[in-house]
Amino acid sequence: MFFDNASTTKLDEDLIDELKNLNEEFFYNPGGLYSKSRNVKKQIEDDRKKIIECLGGESSDNFVFTGSATEGNNLAIMGVLRKNFTKMLFSMGEHPSVYNTALELKNRGYNVEFITLDKTGKVDLDDFKNKMTADVDFVSIMHVSNETGAINDICSLVEIAKGVNEKVIFHSDGVQAYGKIDVDVSTLGVDMYTISAHKIYGCKGIGGLYIKKGVNLKPIIFGGGQESGLRSGTENYMGIHIFSKVVERAKNDLLKNSNLVKLLKLKFIEKLSSTSLKYSLHSYDDNSPYIVSVSFDKCRAETLLNMLNDNMIYIGNGSACSSKNSGNRILQNMGVPKDGVEGNLRISFSKHNTVGEVEKLVDCLSLCVGDYLSKAR
Ligand code: PLP
Repeated sequence: MFFDNASTTKLDEDLIDELKNLNEEFFYNPGGLYSKSRNVKKQIEDDRKKIIECLGGESSDNFVFTGSATEGNNLAIMGVLRKNFTKMLFSMGEHPSVYNTALELKNRGYNVEFITLDKTGKVDLDDFKNKMTADVDFVSIMHVSNETGAINDICSLVEIAKGVNEKVIFHSDGVQAYGKIDVDVSTLGVDMYTISAHKIYGCKGIGGLYIKKGVNLKPIIFGGGQESGLRSGTENYMGIHIFSKVVERAKNDLLKNSNLVKLLKLKFIEKLSSTSLKYSLHSYDDNSPYIVSVSFDKCRAETLLNMLNDNMIYIGNGSACSSKNSGNRILQNMGVPKDGVEGNLRISFSKHNTVGEVEKLVDCLSLCVGDYLSKAR
């Protein structure tokens, strides 16, 4: 049973046939001058248009296909960076692909400040208002936390930021948001927004960055000038086409999937509370239903994870990219005690999970925690 869907999801089965078809007719390099290549190039532009539309962007906006959301986040930050930047703001809750890029900039001498999180895992509004001064050039705040599922009110944060400095560039990492909660980049008011295909049942190794018209971005990868010069490298057309399909599907199925996942989260919490287990939840009612962060008193996460693994139940303990410490940074910043941080498990659902699986998960957790505590005595 797979409950680590925030780390990745399984490609939708029907798209495997689609990949086979694409491999026949559309394997050509889109950079070629012959008709077969031009066809692929045209398809890429259609896919780009479709994604911009699903995101709620304008036809004059851009969407750059990248090799991952990690690359998309790097492109947003490093591509917009200017030598004369006075101040850049990031939240303490960011995924390592944003947080470590911010740390790198700090090491290079840029004025980088981090906004703390409140106890529910959202950016602390007072801290944001204090740090959001007129000299801030760039802000990056994620939409939904990959650790806790906390949802930042990006629309209000953009409003505050642009109210202080109308020229500030606002980027948001929407990897755990798109397809899971309502996303409309125009309503949010963001200048850039990152998404990833493999979190919404697409292929791994393909992501992208939405860029509002007028944002002046420079490439961070140089070469043949693909993607209007913003991301050189032969386009991953098969990945791109499947990406546009899953983006559209995620939008169409948003309500259906989120109703199912809400039920799964509810069942999980309900059943957990009916056991004698002592635990703390670090996810709240208004969070994304897709992610539940929980720790069991006096239990180390790694041991529990291994015990569940022995029962063929696979769950996460935070960001898969750096499972060692990014969850710690975030939970610590929320004020979770050391014990809770060390015992933190991340359970993340998908449209493929069932209520029966959730019941088995809680039963197994009860046994594992009981076993753990009896051995620790
Ligand atoms: N941002 C968030 C919030 C994520 O959860 C992840 C993946 O875990 C990423 C960025 C990176 O995505 P990718 O695996 O496409 O690089």
